[in-house]
Amino acid sequence: MKGNGMREIIDRPSPNFDERKLPVSMIVVHYTETKTCEQALRILCDPAAEKRVSSHWVVDRDGTVYRLVDESKRAWHAGRSFWDGIEDCNSASIGIELVNDGTEAYPEPQIAALVALCSGIKSRHAIRHIVGHSDIAPGRKRDPGPLFPWERLGCRRVSVNI
Ligand SMILES: [Zn+2]
Repeated sequence: MKGNGMREIIDRPSPNFDERKLPVSMIVVHYTETKTCEQALRILCDPAAEKRVSSHWVVDRDGTVYRLVDESKRAWHAGRSFWDGIEDCNSASIGIELVNDGTEAYPEPQIAALVALCSGIKSRHAIRHIVGHSDIAPGRKRDPGPLFPWERLGCRRVSVNI
């Protein structure tokens, strides 16, 4: 799976997942709030953390894509959240973490890789919404933040025709 704006996919399996209880209908975009990609990968793959977390995908600043959790499984990225009648957003979503400390602009290679990744996800699942963590957990979460270029994904909070 190379090309289409994606630089490379690296498997970095996380033990932090369980079974889905709902079909996949949404993509949730996050930022990692870390300085480095390695810090984020360590947190998202840590089985011993007090609060175990994960995402399906991590996209580094240079466009390198890491696969942590199989898309058929339920990753743990949304936390307490609500969207479109769904309370268990983890069960209904694919989670993507963008390496970003929360204050910086998103580099073009990273956004190009994200766009390619999302189009692949849309080809595999009936995605109805692409939202930010801050959309599904307002007041609690700020990511992916005001610098995230939503227009590049061509949609937000709207149905996506596949
Ligand atoms: Zn988040």
